Amino acid sequence: MSIQHDKLLSVIIPSYNEQDMINTTFHTVKRIMDEAAIPFEIIFVDDGSKDLTYSNIFHLSKEYSEVKGLSFSRNFGKESAIFAGLNEAKGACCVIMDCDLQHPPRTIVEMYRLWEEGYEVVEGIKASRGRENPLHSVCANGFYAIISKLTDIDMTNASDFKLLDRQAIDALLEMPERAPFFRALSSWIGFKTTSIPFEVQERTVGTSKWSLYSLIKYAIRNITSFSGAPMQIVTGLGGIMLLFSLVLGIQSLYRYFSGTALEGFTTVILLQLFIGSALMFSLGVIGHYISRIYDEIKRRPKYIISKRCGD
Ligand code: UDP
Ligand code: MG
Repeated sequence: MSIQHDKLLSVIIPSYNEQDMINTTFHTVKRIMDEAAIPFEIIFVDDGSKDLTYSNIFHLSKEYSEVKGLSFSRNFGKESAIFAGLNEAKGACCVIMDCDLQHPPRTIVEMYRLWEEGYEVVEGIKASRGRENPLHSVCANGFYAIISKLTDIDMTNASDFKLLDRQAIDALLEMPERAPFFRALSSWIGFKTTSIPFEVQERTVGTSKWSLYSLIKYAIRNITSFSGAPMQIVTGLGGIMLLFSLVLGIQSLYRYFSGTALEGFTTVILLQLFIGSALMFSLGVIGHYISRIYDEIKRRPKYIISKRCGD
């Protein structure tokens, strides 16, 4: 890293079908960074958008030297886009923010000041969740409650909006995981951390890229990528079954020796159904982890870059 990069802030913006936001987002961030006299570069990572997102990034990069753009060969997901941005960042620190300005750019300045004071990780914490549909909030709260419990990291109001020092960036880049969960990993790496609350803004243009289905998939993927606890549920189930079989076993033996053993057809059916579903459920959990191991072991890259611009 050369001297001029000593203070440089890299702003990483994953963008998926955000053609209408690229310009606005860039100019908003630029105005605020210029006012605060923070040297910066912006890295837009186009996550395989199907609209004009990349072409807008490309035109911006011709006009402004602060803009760099990457384009994925297809949609690889936000986590991959974040890691591609980290890999590309030249700054002494970086901030990850959403393209839809739901993460207020003014907070970046406060984060940067905290970094100047010596903090290495500055987490953006949602002061409120903004306006979202009730089903979505119930699911999100459930997911964060489970994942906080499993990972021992309080994630209830966590977001991807954070600042990372160069050391933290390098630590993250060294992780060989193919399915990283950025939000939790950035806490897991440690370093001198502080947090800063921010108000989630309304999305002005476009729509959220998440459907309920994709959120559930995201939740399962991230819980299993961070914790083996679901497999302990299988052990728990086994324990309960053992207790159950002791009670039922003693009762059956008693019946047998006292000569009243012919009843109990309902019990047999119930047991069959219960054992059958418990077994299938357990196999499913184990199978899920095996498929994750399979995915990791193939060692495919997290993303493929097809185009780049700027610099
Ligand atoms: N995003 C992405 N790849 C995806 C989905 C989303 O890079 O597959 C980006 C998106 O462009 C935005 C950010 O991730 O900058 C957050 O997405 P969105 O606003 O749709 O999510 P929400 O704010 O509803 O959680
Ligand atoms: Mg958003």
